[in-house]
Amino acid sequence: MDKVFVLDFGAQYAQLIARRVRECHVYSEIVPHDIPLKELSGQHPAGIILSGGPKSVYSPGAPSLDPGILKLGIPVLGICYGQQVMAQGLGGEVSRTGVAEFGKTDLKVNSSDSVLFSELPPEQTVWMSHNDSVTGPPEGFHVTASTPASPVAGFEDPERGFYGVQFHPEVAHTPFGLDLLKNFLYEACDLLPKWTMTSVIETAIEQIRAQVGTDRVACGLSGGVDSAVAAALVHRAVGDQLTCVFVDHGLMRAGEGEAVETTFRRHLGADLIHVKASDRFLEKLAGVTDPEEKRKTIGETFIRVFEEVARDELEDAQFLVQGTLYPDVIESGTKDAAKIKSHHNVGGLPDDMKFTLIEPLRNLFKDEVRRVGEELGLPEEIVWRQPFPGPGLAVRIIGEVTPERLDLLRAADQVVFQEIKRAGLLREIWQSFAVLPAVRSVGVMGDERTYGYPIVLRAVTSEDAMTADWARLDYDLLERISNRIVNEVPGINRVVYDITSKPPGTIEWE
Ligand code: GLN
Repeated sequence: MDKVFVLDFGAQYAQLIARRVRECHVYSEIVPHDIPLKELSGQHPAGIILSGGPKSVYSPGAPSLDPGILKLGIPVLGICYGQQVMAQGLGGEVSRTGVAEFGKTDLKVNSSDSVLFSELPPEQTVWMSHNDSVTGPPEGFHVTASTPASPVAGFEDPERGFYGVQFHPEVAHTPFGLDLLKNFLYEACDLLPKWTMTSVIETAIEQIRAQVGTDRVACGLSGGVDSAVAAALVHRAVGDQLTCVFVDHGLMRAGEGEAVETTFRRHLGADLIHVKASDRFLEKLAGVTDPEEKRKTIGETFIRVFEEVARDELEDAQFLVQGTLYPDVIESGTKDAAKIKSHHNVGGLPDDMKFTLIEPLRNLFKDEVRRVGEELGLPEEIVWRQPFPGPGLAVRIIGEVTPERLDLLRAADQVVFQEIKRAGLLREIWQSFAVLPAVRSVGVMGDERTYGYPIVLRAVTSEDAMTADWARLDYDLLERISNRIVNEVPGINRVVYDITSKPPGTIEWE
């Protein structure tokens, strides 16, 4: 398969570059900037993109470019730092000119035969973020574009297949950025836009069949998008050889357990073991109020239940499907972030389980997974489900989880879901849900004093869950949600809206 490698020099936007290339229907992967030359050339990329990076090319310890890469005869596009290391590697000049550019910048294309700027407007806005600049292009290059502060905002040597830009074509603030990338891919690398979700599905199916042969496969379903799409894909590949296990901990939102059941059993005709283990989870959760302990209890109980099913009903299964996504793969190499929460995803299984993993989504980003799900015919409520914590509603009850509180929270949450959906905001908002802090306050209904729980409404916008902002919901919508919850859910007498961003807050309450 044709692919383009993005060499990561520590950029903020390396993932975004790969995503944009994929939007042009060319498969792209991110690799470290110091990937051994042999490994790189052995995979025969059709093009290489050098990402941006925070360092200055001359500073000690700055990530360098293996000069061998520029001798492979593969077209190379350098972006920002990438352009600078390319210039440095080929004998050009890079300096700290004292003029930095950040944000929107006016660019003039000053070459009529540029490959990168072919068919693009001679004057356009681009997005910049740099302190250093190429001040002298290497021999053989010609300058293709400039800005007031960067005389060499673009250069190229099409003979040798080298291209560079000082600005960031991958960000949305560069309106013709995608067209520029297309010129690199389709003209400079001579690629065709062949990578589509249909081709992804076909390739995955072939690979799964080759890996699995006639063996049996197990898949744990969580109700979430990733495990559902992974299971549907494997089911398409091996049909009855797949058994799905849905450990229903009873901590799902209203109707979610049934949706899994309907989709997999009735719609896809998959073999499904639906383990209704709600009592067992609730028993273990009795008296537990500490959030970490709650997550741990749920995680452990989940593993126990899954092990029992595996032992009793899946003893001949060799393979286990997991919905690992590409960002997990990229991050797992470098992740040493502070431990904010444990067991965010229930379903991590112990290492001593005997399965070989099948991870059919490990090269895909979330939005691509959703498109695969749509193509496989999964229903909208699964494909477009908002992120939901593995331990479910248990982490949205602050205090002990009891059946009564779960019922209240589920009913209130259902109102939030319905109203957000009716307002057409379900996809736009990253997550919207109800939280039940187990404290009570005084209210009055029908002249009578009440003493009930409050519901906290949480709705956030986000790109990636790393940061989030509270959604500016319309007052009328807030009013409708508040009225309906208090009227329809006895035991709730107050609704408050959480207006904390992340950081300092987290999206979930615990
Ligand atoms: N650190 C380099 C500079 O400041 C490159 C910046 C970038 O790649 N965005 O010029």
